[in-house]
Amino acid sequence: MLGQMMNMPLTIGSLIDHAARFHSSGEIISVETTGGNENTTWGEVGANAHRLSSALRKLGLGKSARCGTIAWNNRRHLEIYFGVAGGGFVCHTINPRMGPEQMVYVMNHAEDQVLFIDATFVPAAGKLAPALKYCKHIVMLGPRDEAAAKTIPGLMFYDELLETGDAYEAWPDIDEQSAANLCYTSGTTGDPKGVLYSHRSTVLHTLSGNQPDGLNISAKDTVLPVVPMFHVNAWGVPYIAAITGCKLVLPGPNLDGKSLVNLIDITSTTLALGVPTIWMGLLGALKETGSKMPSLKRTVVGGSALPPSMIPEFAEYGVELIHAWGMTETSPVGSMNQLLQRHTKMSVQEQAILRLGQGRPPFGVDLRLVDEVGRILPHDGIAQGDLQIRGLWVIDTYFGKDTSALTVDGWFDTGDVATIDAEGFMIIRDRSKDIIKSGGEWISTVTLENIAISHPAISNAAAIAALHEKWDERPVLIAVKSGEVSEEELLAFYKGKIESWQIPDRVIFADALPIGSTGKVQKNKLRDEFGQILLTKA
Ligand code: ADP
Repeated sequence: MLGQMMNMPLTIGSLIDHAARFHSSGEIISVETTGGNENTTWGEVGANAHRLSSALRKLGLGKSARCGTIAWNNRRHLEIYFGVAGGGFVCHTINPRMGPEQMVYVMNHAEDQVLFIDATFVPAAGKLAPALKYCKHIVMLGPRDEAAAKTIPGLMFYDELLETGDAYEAWPDIDEQSAANLCYTSGTTGDPKGVLYSHRSTVLHTLSGNQPDGLNISAKDTVLPVVPMFHVNAWGVPYIAAITGCKLVLPGPNLDGKSLVNLIDITSTTLALGVPTIWMGLLGALKETGSKMPSLKRTVVGGSALPPSMIPEFAEYGVELIHAWGMTETSPVGSMNQLLQRHTKMSVQEQAILRLGQGRPPFGVDLRLVDEVGRILPHDGIAQGDLQIRGLWVIDTYFGKDTSALTVDGWFDTGDVATIDAEGFMIIRDRSKDIIKSGGEWISTVTLENIAISHPAISNAAAIAALHEKWDERPVLIAVKSGEVSEEELLAFYKGKIESWQIPDRVIFADALPIGSTGKVQKNKLRDEFGQILLTKA
């Protein structure tokens, strides 16, 4: 042997141990489900994570036992993230916005043995409990609560459970390839599918995701992940926060604009992360409250298409908006839109156009485009094709499946249609399920929606493919009004902005759009309702 470096496994326990050793007094502010804010530190979270791991072992849980959580972003949920994975178990975060049948499905599919719930979810969990086949313990996050105890037989309380654990118990030895956390896709069509992240993939995502051209979180930041901890590990922020020792603000259940403005102001948040619908609420509340959010420097936005107006609106408050793309299957960060050196000389307006795209892949992720017969397309910013990804934190096989989810040559098909330019800047043009195929030509629903919402009397819009006798599919726009506008006026607004054959055939005004559990418009529901309206026989 010529010599060797240490061989230390990449484990989630090591992230929180670093936090507890080297920034133990770093602050965490947690908005509690039961009201009020609680202050804690990385040191306390680290000690409680060890206590929890020890307590779960005493409960008799074996290696890789799944522990479900139905909880908001709060400090106990944070302790569970580290304590469950660190202890060699698997933390399965469940989206409470799924319907009850889907929740039961994922808990039984994952074979969750323990279920941690916030007080908010005690009534729901009481109803679901009889259908849970593998669940031995339901644990409410908080101290003993006699009223809650009466509603679920055998209900345990997190604070009491922690007391049975040992804060000095070391983590078990863990193979870095073993499972650490589990998250299900939202399952808009068919059953949700489980994505099982390993310790290794999570640590690599943490290290790469926080490069200066990534989330760029430092110890000086105060970070507010509004993105829920049940939505793809809050985009990895809890792990990144632990290794950097930034101040972390966990917003609890109140995610409306006013509550968020208030929280940003009282905690002096410098970086906040969330989906576009959250920021629409926040921008609305800013106008109402008159706050200028002086502390906030950056927001990270992802999860669905970004309304173009959002970049200049945030810029008015001196906030840089960073657009990111990813999916449950990619941990989630697949690309991040940070500018290059030469872009710094551009005007703010020119930069805003660039920032609308989804950005470039960080090291650790590779992207490519293929056409319908699998031919690889050039990265020229023009060729549009199915976006495929591979990388250090990208899925291979869904939880409980025998066969790989990848193409024969090892890539994951994202279901998105995109372009990539020569410098790697990727733009999502549509989802392949949503794009409109009119007479052999493609029309991007994202483009149609962006034009609609740039109209002052439109607050939200979704374009769908409606079946058409001659053209196979034609665009129909479902729009929500915030002022006065007629169908003819809105259609006229498209003229000169896109080719005339791309302009929608119809506009239907609705009071609201159907929104799914991860904040996205459910276009499949709109297609069910309006997909036939252009057919004469329908
Ligand atoms: P699901 O696919 O189950 O709805 P995900 O949260 O995994 O849930 O969603 C991933 C998808 O969300 C991507 O494939 C893409 O279509 C969409 N998406 C994510 N980020 C963006 C973004 N910045 N712009 C446009 N679409 C996005």
